[in-house]
Amino acid sequence: MSDVLVLVEQVDGEVKKVTLELLTLARTLGTPAAVWAGPGFTPEAKARLAEYGAEKIYVAASGDLVDHVVAPKAELLAKLVTEKSAAGVLIAATAEGKEIAWLAIKTDSGVITDAVGVGEGFVADQSIFGGGINVHSRVRKGTPIIAVRPNSTAPVPSAGAGAEEEVTVALSDAAKAARVVERVKQEKGARPELTEAAIVVSGGRGVGSAENFAVIEELADALGAAVGASRAATDAGWYPHQFQVGQTGKTVSPQLYIAAGISGAIQHRAGMQTAKTIVAINKDPEAPIFELADYGVVGDLHQVVPQLTEEIKKRK
Ligand code: FAD
Repeated sequence: MSDVLVLVEQVDGEVKKVTLELLTLARTLGTPAAVWAGPGFTPEAKARLAEYGAEKIYVAASGDLVDHVVAPKAELLAKLVTEKSAAGVLIAATAEGKEIAWLAIKTDSGVITDAVGVGEGFVADQSIFGGGINVHSRVRKGTPIIAVRPNSTAPVPSAGAGAEEEVTVALSDAAKAARVVERVKQEKGARPELTEAAIVVSGGRGVGSAENFAVIEELADALGAAVGASRAATDAGWYPHQFQVGQTGKTVSPQLYIAAGISGAIQHRAGMQTAKTIVAINKDPEAPIFELADYGVVGDLHQVVPQLTEEIKKRK
């Protein structure tokens, strides 16, 4: 079976969950082959990739791959697609991943972005119009390059050989045109990363102000959860945009999603509707979020949420 290349997403050498999801998908399509771009490949990373089915791991350790924006990784993938006669490429549909996917057109192939699943024959599923319509598409030219949204597949371990192969790539001058001059470490804090969290507590316009988001944060901290926000809340400047959940924000798929003061607009649903259990707290019994929720509390979040937080703290 031909290689299915999976571009590894990692932070400080730690393989991100989305890569494990892509490897899980790749196993159904061909021989999973992880592609590590940049320095910092560790035995731990190797073990993690093999644990989730990587039969091969192509390691391109050159610093140039991360010192320049996007294009070098696309050139690396293009080289591997040709040299290994890969059956397809899976990339995380993050901001960077989607750009890499588009640039990988240099392999003269079709690209599909924002897939939520990939089936036999590299048929990609996309959920459009805020989840209202499902589209199944297939690339008809070249090697399919598919960017898959994080959290759309459950990662399942299945041991692979993890055979390591060193790769070098001669980058074009064009690929080195944009250089990374500084990296600003994102405040990680004690909370889990939004797209990887098992529990997410999100606040919307109903929260009322930036200060009031403390109520949401306290519940999140009691549960060991990440904090999310609706676009109404981020647009109002109450919470940073990087925490926006929805069509134009992050897609989350936690075990538990608590939506407080969020109406449940279709664009918000697009980012959280695959959560296993959804709890809505809203003072309007007619709010559309209740159509989606497994459990609903009709009430003022400023009363309900602190009580919930207290109760959870007591039980710990
Ligand atoms: P509202 O719709 O105003 O709802 C507030 C809710 O809070 C109401 O249901 C109200 O009953 C309740 N409430 C008020 N006070 C309280 C209280 N004290 N206690 C309990 N409940 C209370 N939105 C996103 O979230 N994410 C996206 O990525 C996104 N992308 C978009 C992309 C496009 C192209 C467009 C057009 C829109 C997008 N939106 C997105 C916006 C979306 O349409 C909604 O406007 C937005 O989700 C509304 O946010 P909200 O539910 O917080 O606010």
